[in-house]
Amino acid sequence: MTTSDVLAGASLDSMVLKCVTCGRTHALDELRWRCGDCRGVLDLEGFTAVMANASALARRRPSLWRYAEALPVPEPAGITMGEGGTPLVPAPAKRGVFLKMDYLMPTGSFKDRGAVLVAALAERLGVRRMVADSSGNAGAAIAAYAARAGIVCDVYVPATTSAGKVAQLRAYGATVRQVDGTREDTAAAAALDADDPDVFYASHVYNPFFFHGTKTYVFELWEQFDGRLPGTLVLPAGNGTLVLGAYLGCRELLDQRLIDGLPRIVAVQAENCAPLAHAFNRGRAVSQAGAAGGTIAEGIAIARPARAEQIVAAVRATQGEIVTVAEPHIRAAHSALARAGLHVEPTAAVCWAAIQAFPERPAEAGDEIVAPLCGSGLKSKPPA
Ligand SMILES: *Cc1c(COP(=O)(O)O)cnc(C)c1O
Ligand SMILES: [Zn+2]
Repeated sequence: MTTSDVLAGASLDSMVLKCVTCGRTHALDELRWRCGDCRGVLDLEGFTAVMANASALARRRPSLWRYAEALPVPEPAGITMGEGGTPLVPAPAKRGVFLKMDYLMPTGSFKDRGAVLVAALAERLGVRRMVADSSGNAGAAIAAYAARAGIVCDVYVPATTSAGKVAQLRAYGATVRQVDGTREDTAAAAALDADDPDVFYASHVYNPFFFHGTKTYVFELWEQFDGRLPGTLVLPAGNGTLVLGAYLGCRELLDQRLIDGLPRIVAVQAENCAPLAHAFNRGRAVSQAGAAGGTIAEGIAIARPARAEQIVAAVRATQGEIVTVAEPHIRAAHSALARAGLHVEPTAAVCWAAIQAFPERPAEAGDEIVAPLCGSGLKSKPPA
């Protein structure tokens, strides 16, 4: 990257966090994680993404920072580990289906895309301590990038989180706070800590910078398909950080007329914990969707996603759908992937499970289906 490329990056001064519900804006340095008036979720305002031209891209390294003009913070030299740039491989025994290898990231999941943006922001804001909450992978990603930024980090996790993920958090030097109860209880404990005005809530769910990182999943696909996108993006949905990031990336490409239309987003939930699918298919409010049952897909066992309305609206805007997969099908998909050399965690098999139910059809250009393999099998509990 040349110096002039870097200088073209965005200035944080022009950006604010805007409440999705009431429209109130908040300065970034207030360290707000939700609206001060109505507690609504916040989106980033005052930033316009620009995709670099082909000749500039051709000169850049294959990390997500190649999209510098499309990212709201400049590349953090001491923090980046070259995240992004994951391969796309043809799926086993399914024509026209491709798997994006997002488990090949520094901390073993797609969460690095978002975590590096949030850590870069925290560094710019001069944050000394940050907290995160997670069923595992988001916490690991935040903890790793906090370590690189020299920021003290506490991560709240459910007491049931895999030993491998807890060990990973500790290895990065994070203080692990295990919370008895549900994933929602864990989020509540972190939020309480985050209400301290000096603490930065490095939340993958609330902090909109995270989504400006996960959107690079789509930018990479756009390059991997030579300047277009596949017809269907199949994505896991718990809190929707990849769904919303992918949607944001698609919209930004469309706004710049770099694609002709939006690809269909098919979001996948575990049948045993499917509040978004219920809201989407039965028009029920997410808060009434009922408690979560158990699922081996621990990474998407989210009973009350804070951005539920945005997720449902995004999927609708793409003429997509929200589908569910049952436990035996997740198990089968998980083991089928491993037998094909793709050792991912059970959560990362839900998209592959969903694709098994798609009608077989000849793949034409533009008709392809892409799903992420978004978390490594090395740190997860083997499914019982
Ligand atoms: C976080 C995660 C998901 C779900 O992402 P959401 O943002 O909660 O929708 C899926 N798979 C893996 C491996 C994850 O780490
Ligand atoms: Zn508000």
